[in-house]
Amino acid sequence: MTNSTFPSELPEVTGPTFRPGDDGFDAEIAGFQTAYRHRPDLVVGAAHAGDVRAAVEFAARHDLPIAVQATGHGLSVPADGGVLISTRRMTAVRVDTRTRTAWVGAGVRAEALIAAAVAHGLAPLNGSSPSVGVVGYHLGGGLGILARTFGYAADRVRALDLVTADGRLRRLTAGDELFGAALGSVGNFGIVTAMELELVPVTEVFGGSLTFGTALVEPVLEAWRQWTAEVPEEMTSAITMMTMPDVAPIPEPLRGRYLATVAIAFTGPEAEGQRLVEPLREVGPRLADNLRTMPYSETDGIYSDPPFPHAYTATNALLSDLTADAAAAFLDVTGPDAPMPAVAGFRHLGGALRRPGPAAIAMDHRTAEYNARIITMPAADTDPRAYHDLVAKTLAPWTIGHNLNFLYGAGDWAGEAQTRAGYAPSTYARLRALKSAYDPANLFRFNRNIRP
Ligand SMILES: Cc1cc2nc3c(=O)[nH]c(=O)nc-3n(C[C@H](O)[C@H](O)[C@H](O)COP(=O)(O)OP(=O)(O)OC[C@H]3O[C@@H](n4cnc5c(N)ncnc54)[C@H](O)[C@@H]3O)c2cc1C
Repeated sequence: MTNSTFPSELPEVTGPTFRPGDDGFDAEIAGFQTAYRHRPDLVVGAAHAGDVRAAVEFAARHDLPIAVQATGHGLSVPADGGVLISTRRMTAVRVDTRTRTAWVGAGVRAEALIAAAVAHGLAPLNGSSPSVGVVGYHLGGGLGILARTFGYAADRVRALDLVTADGRLRRLTAGDELFGAALGSVGNFGIVTAMELELVPVTEVFGGSLTFGTALVEPVLEAWRQWTAEVPEEMTSAITMMTMPDVAPIPEPLRGRYLATVAIAFTGPEAEGQRLVEPLREVGPRLADNLRTMPYSETDGIYSDPPFPHAYTATNALLSDLTADAAAAFLDVTGPDAPMPAVAGFRHLGGALRRPGPAAIAMDHRTAEYNARIITMPAADTDPRAYHDLVAKTLAPWTIGHNLNFLYGAGDWAGEAQTRAGYAPSTYARLRALKSAYDPANLFRFNRNIRP
């Protein structure tokens, strides 16, 4: 649809609206992902749930597809036309210490929720990056820094306010069919305007990271692989292998070098944590070793995710096991001789992630013991698709599915096959039937899409 034929009557929204060419349009569609952007015909900068409802009603009336963006971290299928609902203004957070819960608006980032929770001696089940949107993260399951202790964050969602394709705002709780369907399907059933989440009574964590130089990358991966087979559920960790960018602010001794970093968060006592990490330290001297007991408010530095917007594509595989052969094959295709530079690594799963929560949410493959992930930087002259396919093929013998939260890119990384592989066949069939009932025109299609 060209801009001139775009419907002109706009709903009574209190937040700003933007058309291509308007002042503020580019700033409103900009997000953490800089390689791909939504290109809508209209952006509604929702100020509250009423604006979201009005925007959905307007789009449905004109049969326009709907996209939603909070921070732009998780763009998987960019909108090409239609209406983009921007939730960044919906930033209310309310903590209830009596029920140990938080209500968060659709635009709240992890850092704001962490700050609100720690003020009451509580913590959310956030992921590695403080700038990720809380709602988007939970809608994809939410694999947190304490995941092995507390399970998927989405299992601890108590309630959702969801605007469905018919323009209704519904409050959903465990037992409602759309509640379970929305959690894990990343936006397929409507726009979440707010969420009620359980918080956990964690005030301190023993954690940080251990960084090893090039010669120790292979031995530390092997040590981590064996170590993770033994550690208790209170220990959650990940290993990342990459050639560090040769630029400031990377510290001089690390710049331009191929390194391995183990990120750790342990919810038990420090003495026990120190004892547990001995086999990793025994691998050899560390270029950096900052493990310590830290207040929960400082855990956002454990993973050192880049805080600035940039270009990236990513794919991942949930593995039944990490055998020595699987680890070696992965290092072969992602190491310094790889066809293109990659940030590659594994997150340790299992523990509480194996146990479903009280509601039947759309999170499957819970027997996975590891998540393997690669992130590449797309550039004008390189197309990472063939390389991602090569990595997927290498891991195929151990792969049982994908985590949908870690699929980003221009649509090719979140096609039907990948989305389907995120679920058990019975879950996918249930989601598809619900999608046909609640969103038959597939208005909510700019996501890891489940076609009606
Ligand atoms: C640096 C980085 C670190 C990350 N770390 C982790 C991690 O540790 N664990 C983990 O599980 N994930 C992690 N992620 C993935 C992240 O959780 C997902 O990409 C998530 O979708 C981001 O949500 P967002 O709102 O920030 O992004 P956005 O791009 O704004 O939204 C992403 C998608 O989420 C859906 N969505 C967002 N808001 C709504 C809404 N209100 N209603 C309905 N659907 C909505 C839509 O489909 C939207 O396209 C990380 C991502 C990055 C870039």
